[in-house]
Order: sequence, then C-alpha cells, then structure tokens
Amino acid sequence: MRFQELGLGRAALDGVESLGYEDPTPIQEQAIPYALEGRDVLACAQTGTGKTAAFVLPILDRIPVRGTVSALIVTPTRELCVQIEEVAETVASATGHRVVAVYGGVGYEPQIKQLKRGVDLVVATPGRLLDLQRRGDLDLSEVSVLVLDEADRMLDMGFWPDVRKILSLIPKKRQNLLFSATLDARVLRVIGDTLTDPVQVDVAPAATPVDLIEQRVYPVDASQKVELLIAMFKEWDEYLAIVFTRTKQRADRVEQALASSGVPCVTIHSDRSQSQRTQALKNFKEGKHSVLVATDVVARGIDIEGITHVVNYDMPDKPDEYIHRIGRTARAGLTGVAATLASYDDYEQLYTIEREMGMTLTSVDVEGFAYKDRVLPRRDRATAAPRSAFSGGVMRRRGATRRWR
Ligand code: AMP
Repeated sequence: MRFQELGLGRAALDGVESLGYEDPTPIQEQAIPYALEGRDVLACAQTGTGKTAAFVLPILDRIPVRGTVSALIVTPTRELCVQIEEVAETVASATGHRVVAVYGGVGYEPQIKQLKRGVDLVVATPGRLLDLQRRGDLDLSEVSVLVLDEADRMLDMGFWPDVRKILSLIPKKRQNLLFSATLDARVLRVIGDTLTDPVQVDVAPAATPVDLIEQRVYPVDASQKVELLIAMFKEWDEYLAIVFTRTKQRADRVEQALASSGVPCVTIHSDRSQSQRTQALKNFKEGKHSVLVATDVVARGIDIEGITHVVNYDMPDKPDEYIHRIGRTARAGLTGVAATLASYDDYEQLYTIEREMGMTLTSVDVEGFAYKDRVLPRRDRATAAPRSAFSGGVMRRRGATRRWR
C-alpha cells in the first residue's frame, strides 16, 4: 500500500515526503485510515514499528491550524517527547501547524513563551503538562484528539494518577488514540473508561526477528560481572552497544569501571539532567562513545540505529522487558548480539525467559578470562513449549514477523 491510499490530504503527504518515508509501515497502514475517520484506536505496537507517524500524520491532517491546543500527545519520557516533537515538527512544516513539546528537567520559561505564541499540538510528559496547566499557561479545554503513547510504560512508571487528572481536564467528547507495546490485563483495565468503541490494531514489530539476534548467556560469579564486562568489550573489537543495569547506581558504577578501563561510554538515567541526557545520547548516536549504559526506564523508546550488541548486565525483571531490550539490535535486517551476564542468583529469571522464548540460550565464555568458582546454569532441560509470541505480541517467532524495510 502507498501513503496516497490511506486517505491523507495533500499537506500531510508533503509531510510524509519531508520525513523521507516511501511506503507506510504496517502500523501506519492499519491505524491511519481509522484515525482519519475519527475513530478511537487501540494500537499494540512498540517503538521501531513507525508508531509515531501513525498518530502524528492523521492528527496533523485533521486538526485545524488556529493556535489553540486541539491535540495532545502524552508520553512517559522526555526522550520520547523530544523524538515525537521532531517528527511532528517535520510534518507541521508542511501543514502549517504549531507544535510545542513540554517536558520536565528544563526551564519553564522557553516552553511558556512558545505556548503563548499559539500552539495546535502539544507533546508532553504528564508532570510538566499538569504543572503548566495549573499555572494557567496551558489551556486544554479545546482538545479534540488525545494520544496516550506507551500506555503500559506510563502505568509502570506510576503516571496513571496524572493521566487520569489530564483526562479530567480535557473535553469528554474527543478522539482517543492509545498506543502500548503490551496489552496486558492492567492496560486493558484502565482503557475501559478511556476509549469509546475502539478499533484494535496489532502489529508485529519491524525488522527485529528473533532469528537475527544471536542470544548468548555469559555465566559468571556476581563478584566478577564488571571485570567480565570489560573483558567482553576487549574481545569484541567493533561495537555500538547498550548495557542495561537494574538501577541508576549500578549504571554509574558500570560507566566508571568501563571508562577507567578505556571503553568510551556514556550513561543516561533519571538522575542526570536533561541536558546531560541529551548530550550523552548525541555522543552515542554520533559514535563518539560506543557504549551507552542505561536503565530500562530511560532507554525505553529511544530509537538508535546500528546497535550491534545489547548487554543485559542485570537481568530484566520480566521476559517482556528482555524482548524490549534485545529488540534494540538487529534492526533494519542487520544482525545483532544479545549478551546476558548471569550469576547463580539470576538463573531463575533466566529459565523463565528461556521458557517464554521456547529456547535454551547458548552459554558462552570469554577466552582467557580468569573465572572464579561459579555455578553454571542447568542446560539439560528440554526446551519448553514455544509460545507464539510474548504477551502483547511484542515479538513474533519465526515466520510471523513482517518486514517493511
Ligand atoms: P517509531 O516506531 O515511530 O519510533 O519509528 C521507528 C523508526 O522508523 C524511526 O527511525 C522512523 O523514522 C522510521 N520510520 C517510521 N515510519 C517509516 C516509514 N514509513 N518508512 C521508513 N521509515 C520509517
């Protein structure tokens, strides 16, 4: 299907051209026609599927250019907020709308100044949005389209009370577009009273078939994780890697250890200021630093091309998170490595992930590394029954993945 067949008007199609997209992705193909009809849409799609344009294009096609807030996009993290704004600005340069991003961690004044000039579309994180509304700097009484982006993540991050408050500030009669990487019971519970007769669209992610990711486990004693990580990077001579840790403190520690052993790395987590985070991401994207150390919360949704290795320094809490993490590599048809450091304490989680994946991950050692006593994972288990997909269809198994690039 072509973009021209989705029902978008001339200006929005010019916007597509400015974005440089040739053909729509599956989520765009499925969601845009319904969104243009004014229907509520419930979309199960993760980052990397093209979901941003799936809501930005129909919104800017439909809302008037009048300088009052007609559409509101609420998203959990500052990084996502900025990423969405970039797409929206590009399309708006063709449609003539004004777009403002409001998010915390930076001064109020520039955002207030922009709002005062008149705005049609606001992209926001919940806290700052509510602050600005309370201060009287933002009028939400004319919002006719609401997007809740990464709804599952907003729940995980405890934003739902804020989201409810936002819902109470905007007109009841409106169009709702809800995007979520997973549609588990929690998400479904909260959307009940948010959406009206929604059309559900559900797509497999873009080019992240499990088969293109080489998944490895590095068994190691917990006390040697840092040393092993350094040895791993010495062994891989070329990489653009993300290292996931469970906490900010651990992210800092890993960053320091890597840096002092000569591995150029940066870290982003919620204790860093917005400008530090932006600079760190920029350095990483430009390849100045080849390792990004991050916690799940901030890394979620960040779109970076060319990641060669995803390292689980700490185990993810849930199998879904494992899939989110490793899906950062092997984009656009390239291959990638997902390396999980696992000590004895991690094995239960490892087995759960393997059960969910329906496969036993290969254990790998770094040659020449002086391993202390360690317990190796059980490897005699028959592979558990494969599941067709993780909950929410985050990543499909062989054969079910649709490719669009
Ligand atoms: P998203 O899921 O919105 O974060 O998009 C993931 C990536 O896909 C971004 O780098 C987009 O620029 C890119 N993208 C989105 N839609 C298309 C398209 N129709 N054609 C090519 N690239 C796209």
